[in-house]
Amino acid sequence: MDTRIFSGIQPTGRKHLGNYIGAIRQYVDGQDRGEAIYCIVDLHATTVAYEPRELRSYTYDTAAILLAAGLDPERCIFFRQADVPEQPELCWHLCSVTAWGDLNRMHQFKEKSAQQRELISAGLFLYPVLQAADVLAYRADEVPVGDDQRQHVELMRDIAERFNARFGETLVVPEHRIPEVGARIMDLQEPEKRMSTTASSEQGAVYILDRPETITKKLRSAVTDSGTGVLRSPDKPGISNLIDVLAVIRGVEPERVERDFEGSGYGEFKAAVAEAVVDYLAPARERYAEIRADESELERVFAAGAVKARAIASQTLADVRDAMGVGPPAG
Ligand code: ATP
Ligand code: MG
Repeated sequence: MDTRIFSGIQPTGRKHLGNYIGAIRQYVDGQDRGEAIYCIVDLHATTVAYEPRELRSYTYDTAAILLAAGLDPERCIFFRQADVPEQPELCWHLCSVTAWGDLNRMHQFKEKSAQQRELISAGLFLYPVLQAADVLAYRADEVPVGDDQRQHVELMRDIAERFNARFGETLVVPEHRIPEVGARIMDLQEPEKRMSTTASSEQGAVYILDRPETITKKLRSAVTDSGTGVLRSPDKPGISNLIDVLAVIRGVEPERVERDFEGSGYGEFKAAVAEAVVDYLAPARERYAEIRADESELERVFAAGAVKARAIASQTLADVRDAMGVGPPAG
């Protein structure tokens, strides 16, 4: 059987180069490698402060970015999380085999709860359980994500194993798929931090929809370290990050980029990275406006995707209910 691939992406704000390299690029590849299932996780977006009037629009924005980047609803199952109620129901069932202490150790919860000004919601705490349900509902083998999601994938593996041990072999224990280079693109202004939708400044992140001039300006003013030499090193996080970016875009090893720029100054190197990033993001940016403009078509894509997604998720849920003894006996 084909490898089944599942991943979700948040409809919060604009997607950036880190999302593209760490996640979206792998989603597009996944369509050729196996049975690919991708979801815009609008239910996850409500776990932090958000504006209800904007969420639907952000969901369309993110969907249009993914379609513009090359997701093809004929070659993958592409849907919106809230259209598949099996996922939140499975989340509840998985809560019974999730340790409170494990959730309490999640880095993302610590980081995001520190960013909240008012309420730290129970939803934010349970986020990794819903994420586990997203993946386990499809009995996915593989989860393409960036490095920041490593801990959450480990947790969902533990949850699946504990479920199977407690209720009998029901769920597939998934593996993460984290790229070797580009799994953690760093903020351009604070290269010791991850480029992030919610935590990066305007200048710290390159957005997929940024204009070419803006991208060039941001990369030229990226913080680099004192010293010279286009070489990766732990004390040169800024330059190391740009080397990784260029290596991914050119499809070569970072060492190759170092060799190609031997003897070059930072200015020349940054200009080359800027040009490469502009070209890399251009196809998605150029296709975006037309796709985003047609909301009824996006709704149609979501509806068709949800039918396919529910066909899989409802079977898993029926098996889970049966194994747990909740609801009527399986007929
Ligand atoms: P937030 O910071 O608000 O969580 P985000 O930028 O992480 O937002 P998500 O939608 O949560 O965006 O993440 C989508 C995917 O992008 C995930 O698989 C995540 O691991 C990956 N990703 C996020 N940031 C980076 C990054 N800087 N480098 C590589 N991959 C990343
Ligand atoms: Mg994130």
